[in-house]
Amino acid sequence: MGIGLRYLLFIIFLLLPLAAHSQDTRPDSINISNRICTLTGSEGADFNALIAQKNQFDCSEDKYSKTTDYLWLIANVKAQAGQFSDPIIRMRTSRHGDVSILRHFNDGSSYNEFIALKDMNEKWRSPYAIAVDLRDDIGRNPDFIAIGIQKPWDPQNWQDVKILERILDEQLDQESRQYSALITGLLFAPILLNFVIFIIIRQRFILYHTLMVVGIMVNHISWTGQIFDIFPSITMADRSIISHIALSAVGFAACMLIRSICNPKKLGRFLQSTLLIAGSSCLLITIIVMILSPAWPLIGSQIFHIFFIIMTFTALCSLIYASLRGDKMAMLQLAGLSFAIVISIIRVGRALGFWENAPVLDLEFNIAVMLELLTISYVVGLRAYQLRKSRDEALQESKVLGLLAHSDSLTKLLNRRGFMEKYSKIAAQSEKRDINRAIMLIDIDKFKKVNDEFGHDAGDMVLVQMGTLLKNSCRENDICARLGGEEFILLISSYKENGVDSFAQRLRATINNHDFSDDEITLDKITVSIGIVMMDLAQERDFKAYYHAADKALYSAKHLGRDAIVFGELSKPDALSASDHKQSKEDGIKKGGDEFTPATS
Ligand code: GH3
Ligand code: MG
Ligand code: MG
Repeated sequence: MGIGLRYLLFIIFLLLPLAAHSQDTRPDSINISNRICTLTGSEGADFNALIAQKNQFDCSEDKYSKTTDYLWLIANVKAQAGQFSDPIIRMRTSRHGDVSILRHFNDGSSYNEFIALKDMNEKWRSPYAIAVDLRDDIGRNPDFIAIGIQKPWDPQNWQDVKILERILDEQLDQESRQYSALITGLLFAPILLNFVIFIIIRQRFILYHTLMVVGIMVNHISWTGQIFDIFPSITMADRSIISHIALSAVGFAACMLIRSICNPKKLGRFLQSTLLIAGSSCLLITIIVMILSPAWPLIGSQIFHIFFIIMTFTALCSLIYASLRGDKMAMLQLAGLSFAIVISIIRVGRALGFWENAPVLDLEFNIAVMLELLTISYVVGLRAYQLRKSRDEALQESKVLGLLAHSDSLTKLLNRRGFMEKYSKIAAQSEKRDINRAIMLIDIDKFKKVNDEFGHDAGDMVLVQMGTLLKNSCRENDICARLGGEEFILLISSYKENGVDSFAQRLRATINNHDFSDDEITLDKITVSIGIVMMDLAQERDFKAYYHAADKALYSAKHLGRDAIVFGELSKPDALSASDHKQSKEDGIKKGGDEFTPATS
């Protein structure tokens, strides 16, 4: 099953309870919105003059879209109010300014109440932001009521003005809390996914997405009022600060995520730096504004909003730009955002009157955000999967390259470097004193003749077969390598007293008896000369010393007429004699290349 399908099933599984819960199970309430009329452009209007104009108020369907700075809602409430024991007006909004409430009575008298933003901060709780008594302070029921809201951001939200019995309101509040808590719970899903992805591949962008989800969760908890249940001592001002900082952290994380997930070539240098600047300045300015907020309440929040808009604009432009240049990661992120973008555009467009007949997309913002987070979490997973794949491939490649660097391409045996590496590992392991270990140098006799008589290819064939013969003679813990040319080196271990000697005899016989000919070329018998030196495991000796001794032995074997085995003597542990050293070195150079560098000392 593909990663995409698995992810889809996971999302469906997660969204099921949400879908079930979003069925409206709230108790009936009496919605008076169809009796609410609005008056446009009535800022600063005199209440009594307004009420005198009551009949001219706009009561058409799209009345909310016509408001600008000041929204007046007027409702006949007397008939409804009589049905309730303790009626209140409950209003729900996403954003709000100061509120004026004017209760008007049959006898023509009125009772006016002004609720300033700072009072609201003490009283209000989202999502049911305000609950005010319908009656005046001596308990009279008004004939009708006028509610004025300064600078409503989204008048559409004010259609939720309802008259309710207090008991019902509390129930509603309870329901809405459960719903909010469910959303909070579901927000753990992307965090959980990220955690798993982070274990598999430790990439910073997964942390950015986690910060994003955590920020949204903190904002959700504080904005929906759950924070008051968790921390009863929190004030509205604290809530506001937490919410704003959480949102700016979301902005920062989103910018950094786009920066690190999109293809840098498609995004371009300019947008990469712009994202970094926009994201971090949004976070920084918000923190500064929040620190200064007691002294600088309103201007500060305007500055914050400006930076938030710049950040959002930069993030969106970057995604659109990279998408247009064919970056799939950017396209997927845009797709995730699209739900929230569509809802925002419709709401703002309708509020500003640009698009009066905008379709009402009745998708809750919370769900849009959930969909966005899960989509982006999928993008994060996909990117992590891609990176993991390419990392594995690179690892594989480097392994192959490493193998090439340590092996001989013709015989497939280890080369000089491979031998030294394996030797140093074996030497580093704790030595077994009862083992006989030996270094064995093997040189093919008169190999030049093979090349000269039968050609280089025939020579190669002999080398390959020799390599196979040597390898097959060795045990698992022995080392067999080609030093270069027609010279090989073995590290042999044996538990028997004269095990090394008999091994060398057997090997010489095997080579002597082997027929190196093939279908085309008939070769004479091939012989080898072998120089051996036993290792002194009781003493720590330099590899160079063993090598020189074995080399000297091989030299003697050649002098003895070839096809011979000679055991060399290890020179005294304290120092090699000057003449020994000189001779070995010369031989080393003659026999094909540089000297061994000691791996252990
Ligand atoms: P000796 O008995 O003294 O060792 O004589 P020799 O001919 O074996 O030694 P010499 O060092 O004079 O020659 C080694 C030859 O090995 C020379 C070189 O052309 C050949 N040789 C080295 N590497 C390769 C190889 O990879 N393939 C083939 N075909 N020949 C090689
Ligand atoms: Mg030779
Ligand atoms: Mg040689």
